[in-house]
Amino acid sequence: MAALKILLTNDDGIHAPGLTLLEAIAAQFSDDVIVCAPAEEQSGAGHSLTLNRPVRLQQFGDRRFAVTGTPTDAVNFALRRLFDSPPDLVISGINNGENLADDITYSGTISAAMEGALAGIPAIALSQAQRSGGNGFAAAEGWAVKVLQPLLDMQMARRTLININFPALPASDVRGIRVARQGFPDYARGSIVEGTDPRGRPYYWFGLEDVEHTLDHGTDLEAVGDGYISVTPLQVDLTDHAAIGQLAGRFG
Ligand code: MN
Repeated sequence: MAALKILLTNDDGIHAPGLTLLEAIAAQFSDDVIVCAPAEEQSGAGHSLTLNRPVRLQQFGDRRFAVTGTPTDAVNFALRRLFDSPPDLVISGINNGENLADDITYSGTISAAMEGALAGIPAIALSQAQRSGGNGFAAAEGWAVKVLQPLLDMQMARRTLININFPALPASDVRGIRVARQGFPDYARGSIVEGTDPRGRPYYWFGLEDVEHTLDHGTDLEAVGDGYISVTPLQVDLTDHAAIGQLAGRFG
């Protein structure tokens, strides 16, 4: 078996079913796999680092570790302490829920892959869209090997990562794979649930309900909405290069 050295991580935590599935998938490509994930769910953690308290290491098997921190902490730690030399690939997921469009800016799943990309390592984020009464991880389970195989030996540009989303369909209903750009929905968010805690203080709880939006052509949102697996190359460089000259002119 090829000695592809792979780091697996996620933002749903070391005990998440999506990570177990990812481990099974990665085992088909390599027997040199190390898992390092957050000890608890960190969805929505974005690219945050834990700086104001220590992080503890937990071990769940020969090559399975958890850190009591964020997805970024997990990758950071793994690259510094669990590998003698950098891995060939970082794969993050399989997230329980889609990471499409502006989800990317909040996502711990994407950020874990981004941390790998920042370190100069090819990185892939995998997410499985979920719908109530849906099909669990069926699409990812049926298609992940097919989607990952062509990417394994790809030379990725530095500081780029690949964001893959599986639609919430049975594997046999998935229509194929589409390379798509990142979409942006109309800005809208799910409800805020208000309540009173047992000590009489008000609280607010953010919801994540599906929001209807208009779909631009060629986007990840459209692809997954049409029943395809979306494959989107992302770059960490957020510079608006086209605006550099215009902005510089304002200070001339
Ligand atoms: Mn998550």
